[in-house]
Amino acid sequence: MNTATKAVRAAALENDLTRISGANARFLGAARRLLIDNAWVEARSGRTFDVRDPSSDRVIAHVAEGDAADIDLAVDAARRAFDDSDWSRMKPVDRERLLHRLADLIERDADDLAQLEALDNGKSVIIARHVDVKHAVEVWRYMAGWPTKLEGQTLPLSGSLVPGQEYVGLSQREPIGVVGAIIAWNFPLLLATWKAAPALAAGCTVVLKPAEETPLTALRLGELVVEAGFPKGVFNIVTGMGPTAGAALAAHAGVDKITFTGSTEVGRLIVRAAAGNMKKVTVELGGKSPTIVLDDAKVDQAIAGATSAIFFNQGQVCCAGSRLYVARRHFDTVMEGVAEQAKAMKIGPGLDTTSQLGPLVSATQRERVMKYVNEGLTDGARAIAGGRALSAPGYYVEPTVFTDVVESMSIVREEIFGPVVVAQPFDDLEAVARIANNSIYGLAASIWTADVSKVFRLASKLKAGTVWVNCHNVLDPAMPFGGYKQSGWGRELGREAVYSCLESKSLCINIAA
Ligand code: ADP
Repeated sequence: MNTATKAVRAAALENDLTRISGANARFLGAARRLLIDNAWVEARSGRTFDVRDPSSDRVIAHVAEGDAADIDLAVDAARRAFDDSDWSRMKPVDRERLLHRLADLIERDADDLAQLEALDNGKSVIIARHVDVKHAVEVWRYMAGWPTKLEGQTLPLSGSLVPGQEYVGLSQREPIGVVGAIIAWNFPLLLATWKAAPALAAGCTVVLKPAEETPLTALRLGELVVEAGFPKGVFNIVTGMGPTAGAALAAHAGVDKITFTGSTEVGRLIVRAAAGNMKKVTVELGGKSPTIVLDDAKVDQAIAGATSAIFFNQGQVCCAGSRLYVARRHFDTVMEGVAEQAKAMKIGPGLDTTSQLGPLVSATQRERVMKYVNEGLTDGARAIAGGRALSAPGYYVEPTVFTDVVESMSIVREEIFGPVVVAQPFDDLEAVARIANNSIYGLAASIWTADVSKVFRLASKLKAGTVWVNCHNVLDPAMPFGGYKQSGWGRELGREAVYSCLESKSLCINIAA
């Protein structure tokens, strides 16, 4: 057993549930149910599933396993709330007030939510508190500002199809209806927020299906929604498996829009299922985002930036900087620096505030990541840091840095969704734009440089929904996020997220009649 494995094993043994807050201990102590019509109910089948702590593989909670029957009930509740309830009659300013009240409650319980997220997902409790929960509050507040600003337009008509008549044209925005949201496990509370906050701001109602690996903070969010005073049926949660509960929601004829975050493979299934009743669709899918260090970059800054671009959240980030391209003259220095930082990272449970890299979310995810790592090694790539899973009780993989890679390798082409980066040198902007774009994905990219003209020249060539300059993984409620190519359809956050939950209705009035 190597030293890192020993340390992680010791930390995991110490990571017993005595660190858990009273509120979280109570929450975990009872089987968690589905939220339908503001009532907590068991799954119709009576089934439950286990939720595990990724740092120890222990079962920490039992959660109702909803399926198609429960999705039917939740969609019916959401439909009733949308068609005829206090929610549908609520003034925009009152909707705003409710959304702000929810943000206040999340802020009140921020420490507990962060701890629960760290326990459920394996991420660092510090990151959970200062990224996941903090950003979730910011998004709820940003979206709370929208209900009173969803304006229509007057349209200057000049058509003359019917002589002698005169028309006035208006367009107004109306909520789409029932929104089904299916989310991944990497940022559970935050993704629930990205989906639910714009939908509720637009006046829609929601049925949320959290990821089966990480349902806990979404269920706590459900408690806060009820406490905030949202009318019944406005926000419903059905926990369960993807192929049953998720598939039923995606295909449901009573759902008007489906919004999904997850793998491109499942995204394709969602799009097909949505075609049945032509639901509106937003899908935020995979990525293989390039981090590009130009020849004039500040090298130390680029080393730190490239390291955190990939290892933040154990690399389980759809926009992680998983391909690193470095100007040839800095390649050796940058690679030495990134490898050194990777080797120095303290691996341990998320609840240990000194951990810098936590476990992956599940044993399945660790196997998936290790399959890629082993393929890379077999294909002839060189691991200058990491390359192994730890034989600790949790699902740990060492932060891994590959050089000597070529574009045909699976580790370069496919999304690994783990702490693994592949690196190559390049010679000029044209060349790096070509390799950066040589991917089925187009979610994000970062450019590290001090030369503003190169920023514009390169950014305009990159096929990516977000291009960061001298930063990576920076998200803001006002900044739309989503992908080109197979990284998805539509955008999360910002005005675009709210408008994606609205229909546009044209009103044409004959004023000569
Ligand atoms: P990962 O492979 O990383 O777990 P997925 O894309 O499989 O990511 O999962 C993201 C979300 O999609 C989860 O909530 C999961 O339950 C759900 N899901 C998985 N399969 C399906 C499916 N066939 N239909 C609808 N949702 C699904």
